[in-house]
Amino acid sequence: MKKNIAIDIGGTKILGVSFDEKNKMIDRAKRPTKTHKGIDEVISRLFKVIDSVEENKDNINAIGAGVPGIIKKGVIIFTPNLPLSGFNLKKTLEEKYNVPVYVGNDANTSLLGEWKFGGLDKYKNVIGYFVGTGVGGGMILNGKLYTGSMGGAGEIGHTIVDPAGPFCGCGNQGCLEAFSSKTGIFQYIMAQKRKGRKSILINDVDPEKNIFKSSILENALNENDELAEEIIDKVCYYLGVSSANMINLLNPDKIVFGGGLIESLGEKMLPLIKHYAKMYSILRLYDDNIFTLTSLGDDACIYGALTLIENPEVQD
Ligand SMILES: [Zn+2]
Repeated sequence: MKKNIAIDIGGTKILGVSFDEKNKMIDRAKRPTKTHKGIDEVISRLFKVIDSVEENKDNINAIGAGVPGIIKKGVIIFTPNLPLSGFNLKKTLEEKYNVPVYVGNDANTSLLGEWKFGGLDKYKNVIGYFVGTGVGGGMILNGKLYTGSMGGAGEIGHTIVDPAGPFCGCGNQGCLEAFSSKTGIFQYIMAQKRKGRKSILINDVDPEKNIFKSSILENALNENDELAEEIIDKVCYYLGVSSANMINLLNPDKIVFGGGLIESLGEKMLPLIKHYAKMYSILRLYDDNIFTLTSLGDDACIYGALTLIENPEVQD
C-alpha cells in the first residue's frame, strides 16, 4: 500500500502524518523543531518525522508540506521563524525520498485543508484567517489558491487596519496582527500593566514569556474581567474591519476562522466579528452565513498538505 505523507513545519514543532490511498490517517509523529540549532538539525528532524510515520521509502507515494513564509515552486524564499530562508525544500525531499514533493505556505495550506476536507469545497471563493501567535491568511479565488507574483500573497495579518496603530513584528505599524494576534494581545496587556490597571490577565500572564496560553484569556472572560472583555472586543473589531475589507474587495462565498485563539474562543468571538464586519461592509455583499469556524482545528495544515499532493493544480 502506497502512502501519502503530510507535514506541518512550524517554529516550535514538526508534525508528520501518513495517509492511506483513501485518505485515512495511518500514523502521526511530532518533534520539536529546535530552530536555534540551525538548518542541518531542523532538516534532520524533518527526516526523522517522515521516517517515523513510514520507515520504508518505497511505500511513499508523495510528500506535501506547509511551511511558514514565502514559498515559490518548493523553495522557501523567506521565512521569519525558521533557519530555512533560501532553502530548496522540494528538491531536498525529492532527492532523499525519490517521490514528488509539494510545498506551500502554512496559512495558505491550512486554508486549502479547510476548503477540501472541512466541507467548503463547493465554494469557489474562500478567505481564511488563522489567529494564533500571529495572524495567518489565505485566499482561494475562482477555485484556486491565490499566491501572487512571488508566492507571498495572502498576508492578511499584515494588512494595515490603523496606520497609527501599534508596531508589528514585521516592522510596520498598525497591521491586523499587531492588534488581533496573541503577540499583539500580550503587548496590549503589558501596556495596560504599565498604566497600573488591575486585571486577572495582568496577574496571570508571565511578562517573561512574550506569549500566553489562550486558556488564560478564556478564564478571565469567564470571570467577567473588564480588561479581558475589552481585549476580546478589540481583537474582534479589527478582525471584523479586515473581514469587511475582504468582503468589499473580493466578495467571498465564505470566510473561515481557525488557529489557536479561535479554537478556544471562536464561539464567543464570531458574533462580535460579524457585528463589526457588517458595520463596515457594503450591505448588499454582506451575509451572516459567510462566516464559519474551523472544522479541522490543529490539523488544517496537515489536510492542506494532503490537498497539495492530490490537487497540485490548486497552487501555482
Ligand atoms: Zn505586520
